[in-house]
Amino acid sequence: MRKTKMLCGIGPATQDWEVFKKLVMNGLNVARVNFSHATLEERKTTEDLVARARKELGKDVAILFDTKGPDLRTCSFENDFIDFVAGATIKIVRESVLGTKDKISFNFPQVIDNLAIGTEILLNDGFVRLEVISVEDESGENGGGVTCKILDSATLQSRRGVNIPGVDLNIPFISEVDEEDIKYSCEHDGDFLGISFVSSAEDVRAARELLVKYGRGDMAILSKIETKKAIENIDEIIDETDGIIIARGDLSVEVPFIEVPVLQKMILRKCREKGKVCIVATEMLKSMCKNSRPTKAELTDISTAVFDGTDAVWLSDETTIGAHPDLASQYLGEVADEAEAYYEEYGTKYLASHGHDTPDLLASSVVKAAEDGNVKVIVAATMSGFTAQRISNLKPNAIVLAAVPDERVARKLALTWGVYPIVTGEYGSTDELVADAVKRAKEFMSLDKGDKIVITGGFPNTGIKKTNFMKIEEI
Ligand code: PGA
Ligand code: MN
Repeated sequence: MRKTKMLCGIGPATQDWEVFKKLVMNGLNVARVNFSHATLEERKTTEDLVARARKELGKDVAILFDTKGPDLRTCSFENDFIDFVAGATIKIVRESVLGTKDKISFNFPQVIDNLAIGTEILLNDGFVRLEVISVEDESGENGGGVTCKILDSATLQSRRGVNIPGVDLNIPFISEVDEEDIKYSCEHDGDFLGISFVSSAEDVRAARELLVKYGRGDMAILSKIETKKAIENIDEIIDETDGIIIARGDLSVEVPFIEVPVLQKMILRKCREKGKVCIVATEMLKSMCKNSRPTKAELTDISTAVFDGTDAVWLSDETTIGAHPDLASQYLGEVADEAEAYYEEYGTKYLASHGHDTPDLLASSVVKAAEDGNVKVIVAATMSGFTAQRISNLKPNAIVLAAVPDERVARKLALTWGVYPIVTGEYGSTDELVADAVKRAKEFMSLDKGDKIVITGGFPNTGIKKTNFMKIEEI
């Protein structure tokens, strides 16, 4: 039974029932709708596919809506491209212009105010680097700006992404478009809200406020770590968020890319210690956008993420615009299975939760008992999903059956490693809970006489984070 969850972007390559169905049968748990690209029509198509999979295949696929965030881009270019030539100079002006080889502008002109001589500007994931060599105030032509030396030669298309590592960009974290998109997520039954280019706990709170405003304060927030600032503030962000996406694509442009593998390990560990869900993202099978077989490095990347404790593995371009979305998702799942089979030997285990509150202590005790007793299944009755997440972070051998009150909470666990949610409603007493747990565990997997089940939950059901007992039952 697979423990690692699978998250795939849905786009032109997968917006077809037959293809989408294959992804679901290959183990898709969460479908991502990327607001940076998806038109209203495309969003709707993905939502319909998800609804159909739930109905026809009985698979409770969850939806991640992912905001655009403060996404800095160049203007459009004359003839749709510019040949950047190393050694030449180019101006970045405050006024919005149609770009030429002599001058361009950005979608957020205020960024220019924070540029100084020596600042490095990266265009299109660092394909073209610019270095600021002089700064002109607003009285200059086109509202003034900066003059840069071009450091790399390349032809770039219009509206390419811009990264300026280490510089405060002055862009509001949530734009009007983002707020509209967050509202959309609430109105369209989102399970997860991905927030792009988070830089502080304050950003996470701002997103949470909007979820509350639009009636879905319960939606899980996944903060995408993709800037230097986010790395500096990683602890406060993890404390504030429900989960983390290690967005290696942008991160490897914003920080020296050689640091990314170590940062990945650091973030995974912190999330597990703090009881949060964590997903390693981007380029897991990038070569399969074109090829029908992965590279060996990609196979190793996936299994390393699993051994380091990622909750889920991720495909984006591979399944949105790639040539082999079905095969890519199949291999992604199979490589994860293979790594899981060796988790005892090579995986990281037994990281104690940071906290010492009752749910943390119980999670540790539950997992310890399950390991010592060779237990196949842990049943966690959980109102919010919190207890199941804490247990999952410790990576038990046993499968975790999460007994949850409704489908929303069930889907909130769609990314949590090793957890299989079942909707049971609420219980009237501890005895009722335990009896039902035994029954459900037996239905869920074949158990032999003498097998033990570890049961944990909270009683009375007074709301979230109230796990307070553990019981061991023998078949
Ligand atoms: P994106 O985020 O695909 O939305 O850019 C992931 C990343 O940057 O790695
Ligand atoms: Mn990104």
